[in-house]
This record gives sequence, C-alpha cells and structure tokens, in this order.
Amino acid sequence: MSLISPWRTDFPALDALERQGQVYLDSAATAQKPQALIDALTHYYANGAANVHRAQHLPGAMATQAFEDTRHKVGEWLNLGTCGHVIFTHGATSAFNLLAYGLEPLFQTGDEIVISALEHHANLLPWQQLAQRRGLKLVVLPLTADGTVDLDAASSLINARTRLLAISQLSNVLGTWQPVSTLVEMAKAHHALTVVDGAQGVVHGRHDMQALGCDFYVFSSHKLYGPDGVGVLFGRHEALARLRPWQFGGEMVLQAGYEHATFRPAPLGFEAGTPPVSGVIGLGATLDYLNDVNQSTATEHEARLHELLCTGLRLREGIRLVGVPQVALASFVVEGVHNADLAHLLTEQGIAVRAGHHCAIPLIDRLGLSGAIRVSLGLYNDSADLERFFDALDQALELLR
Ligand code: PLP
Repeated sequence: MSLISPWRTDFPALDALERQGQVYLDSAATAQKPQALIDALTHYYANGAANVHRAQHLPGAMATQAFEDTRHKVGEWLNLGTCGHVIFTHGATSAFNLLAYGLEPLFQTGDEIVISALEHHANLLPWQQLAQRRGLKLVVLPLTADGTVDLDAASSLINARTRLLAISQLSNVLGTWQPVSTLVEMAKAHHALTVVDGAQGVVHGRHDMQALGCDFYVFSSHKLYGPDGVGVLFGRHEALARLRPWQFGGEMVLQAGYEHATFRPAPLGFEAGTPPVSGVIGLGATLDYLNDVNQSTATEHEARLHELLCTGLRLREGIRLVGVPQVALASFVVEGVHNADLAHLLTEQGIAVRAGHHCAIPLIDRLGLSGAIRVSLGLYNDSADLERFFDALDQALELLR
C-alpha cells in the first residue's frame, strides 16, 4: 500500500534531505519546518527585528503585536478560553525547571510528588532535585505490560500526601497515550497540583485544557514543527497565583529599588529578560499553517503510516517492539544485536532514526534494556520512507546476524 503525504512539499527540508540520501524518521526528537515558518522568520529579520514590550517605536510595536498574537494563537490551539495564561519559556525543559523552582515554597518535608516510570528526564530530574532540596518523597507510578500507567496502583499511590502529580501525556519511548484525565482527577481529589508533559502529545491531536483540567501543561515548539528555543507553559489562574517567579530581570518587574522589587503577574512576570522573539513569531506562523491542515486527514495519515511501521517491525524475526505503541513512533530491539551496531549501519545507509535511552534512562533500565532504536513519524513522511527504512534494516540485520 502506497501512502503519500499531501503536506510533504510544504516542508522544503524533506527534499533537501532526500538529495543528500537521507530519510528523516526522527520527528519525535525534533520536527522539520514548514515553508510558512521559514517565510515568517525571513520576513521578521528582513523587515526589522525589535525587542518586545519595551520600545514605543514602530518595529517594537510590530514585534510586540506579532509576539502577543502568537500567545493568543497558542491559547486557541489549547482551547484555554479564559481559564489561564500562556507563558513563553526557552523550551519544555525550562518550563519544568520554572515550575520546580517556582512551586518550591509550597512543599513541606515529607510531602510527595508523583511521577510515572516513563517520564523523560525533563519531567523527572527537576522534581528529583526539588525532592532532594526539600526532603520530599518522589513516588513513581508503575506501568502495565502495554506501557501505560497502572491505574489500580495509581489509585493508592496518589493520596492525601500527594502535593503534585507530573505526568507525560504521550511517551517518547513507548508511543503510548497515558490516562492523563483520570490521573489528573485522582490528584485533584486530593487537592494536589497537576502538571502534564505535552511535549509529544501536543503534536498528535488537539488537546483542550478546559476539559483536561490540569493546572499546568508544557510543550516545546520545535517538536510541533515550530522553531527551537521556544517552550510553552500553560498555567491555570489559581495555580499561577501560587507560582513564584524563578528567573529575575528585565520586563518582569513592576517596580524596582536597590533593596526591593515587585513583579508583574502572569504571563510577563514569568518571562524575565528578552524572550525568544523570532521563535515565538515563527511559532505563530507554524500554528497558522497547522490550522490549515485538516486534523482528521492528518490523524488518519499518521495512523496508517504507524500501522505500516508496526506491522513491518512485527513481521521481522527477532525484532521486539518495546511496549505496544499507539501512535507516531515505535521503539524496538533485536535479539542478539546491539542497538549501537544496528544504529551505525542504519546511519550509514542514510536512515535518520534515534538509538539509545531517549532521555529516559530509568525507564530503559526498568525494561531491562540497554537502549532501543526509535523510529518516529511526522506529517511529511510517506510509505516510501518506511520502505527505505525496512530495506536498510534488512540489509543491516543480514550483516549483523
Ligand atoms: N518531554 C518529552 C516527553 C520529550 O520527548 C522531550 C524531548 O524529547 C521533553 C520533555 C523535553 O523537551 P525539550 O528538550 O524541547 O525541552
């Protein structure tokens, strides 16, 4: 079955990579960019860059307008309504660190932070560090065999001692959707704060913050086909009122003296210093582009490609999928073959996939693996990309076995 992506030609890098003999199957790490974004960045830099929220001159006003327009577009993308604010950070990782430092005063020794066994280091280490600073307990929710959080275990591990739940929406290793709504409800029943890592989930489908009910939702622009260096932190009003600024400097200040300063409320109070202006404007152009992509056609295309990927892997002897991937990516290991050797041979044949621990070492350890190869898909991938991948895989395995 041949599957052609109607969006491939919107991403000029795909052609450029093809001319270099490369097949890009690493979109879960970072996605290629649409022409619409490249045009917006060129326009911004060619017509006058300026800082935002400070200058009264025309370029400053234009940059501020475009920057704030993106804030509005992100709010629509997440269907915030009036329930909270969008804060721009320098990436998802910065957003988690902002939360772990900014919420620190709310914790007392013995309080518990609940995460799951599959978290990316970005949604693990900031909490682990906070736990060490404050004498907290980090509780880890176990997984079922198919790679989703075990809800039975969660119902007892999330309890009156839980002060915060931080949970991934879509695993970057297993490709499994997590039962975030249920977990958020469980945590809220105990008045705990809730943080959802949407770094992978935001790329696949639209997610409604009003319905999801979490206090904070985090993602990185670069995985959503936007520029790198930009992160998004959605915060609900009540939760933002409890968050302290983490970084201090220009533009987040209401009044400053040598001994004392007062700070702006959200969102600007959490955006100290010059923000990633071009990146945020580029994210706005990317969202305009994505709003023109028919969501159900895109979801169907991704689902069919994913099916081809998983079926092709399952058909090959000795290959074991890690978990039961549901969308966008699949990680696998091959009996008797070291990941690094296989990755090397795939790279030599122009196949851009990821090998290793995928920034989730505790999960890889818990699964008893030394690493895994991950193939991940974007809007622009075709079945021809997978055919080239499987040809390269077969050749590599023939050499290695
Ligand atoms: N969370 C998940 C699930 C991820 O996959 C990633 C990146 O791979 C991150 C968080 C961190 O994102 P960033 O490196 O853009 O800060």
